[in-house]
Amino acid sequence: MKPITIFSWGYYGWGNHTPYLIKALDAVEESKGFKPLMFVDIRISHGVRAKGFKGSAFKNLVGEQRYLAMKDLGNEKIISGSGPAIQIAKPAAAKDLLDLAIKLSKTKQRLLFFCSCKFNKFGGKPNCHRCTVAGLLIKAAKKQGVSIQVVEWPGGEPKNIKMEITPKLFGSINKGVMNITLPKDCDLAEMAGLPWGTVVTFKCNDQELNRIVGPAIYQKSKWILPVQFFYFDQDASLAIYHKESEKIRKSHGFLPTNS
Ligand SMILES: [Zn+2]
Repeated sequence: MKPITIFSWGYYGWGNHTPYLIKALDAVEESKGFKPLMFVDIRISHGVRAKGFKGSAFKNLVGEQRYLAMKDLGNEKIISGSGPAIQIAKPAAAKDLLDLAIKLSKTKQRLLFFCSCKFNKFGGKPNCHRCTVAGLLIKAAKKQGVSIQVVEWPGGEPKNIKMEITPKLFGSINKGVMNITLPKDCDLAEMAGLPWGTVVTFKCNDQELNRIVGPAIYQKSKWILPVQFFYFDQDASLAIYHKESEKIRKSHGFLPTNS
């Protein structure tokens, strides 16, 4: 049997664009044959600046059916301000999260738990409490003999994709822009579902440029591909790009963990 996939995610950068976020996430899940995601909020405090995640704003947007707050899986340190950097308020609650993911999987709905941090790991080391929650989920799944995979949204194995683009866009990528504007008719389900570390080969006439990117994000009224890395040397081979991609995936916590 295929493992049940549970996503972790940080809303960093999406605070003012949640309607677009939902549009993207729903398109990705639908393209893969799943129902719209169930969201589990694992922040201990909802008193944040980000408009779309302040108070009950996010719950109001997605609806009560698709939202659950689990402060038990929040980081107590945010409140107490003392002791180790990560202290899960009530670690045993990970079992409830697992049970919910198992239940939803029976009706083809997947679960995404989130906080605000951009990366769950930095330099290969835990950087956010969702890393700890992922570990607790794996432990609980092993105990129950359930096969799960916990991975940063949108998961998947990075591949190389080719994209034919206009000379104007090619020129700006060549100059080193880190936010690549996507054409208006792009396939949102594909672009927002690109695995972290995807290597895109941009083509224009006889020229090519490679970039390591993450899934599409919405910024300044446009869908863009965020560039994570590129070599100035345009002759750097695809093999070298894939090697670097694997390094980034490891360092930023994009590799899946399995029970
Ligand atoms: Zn966090």
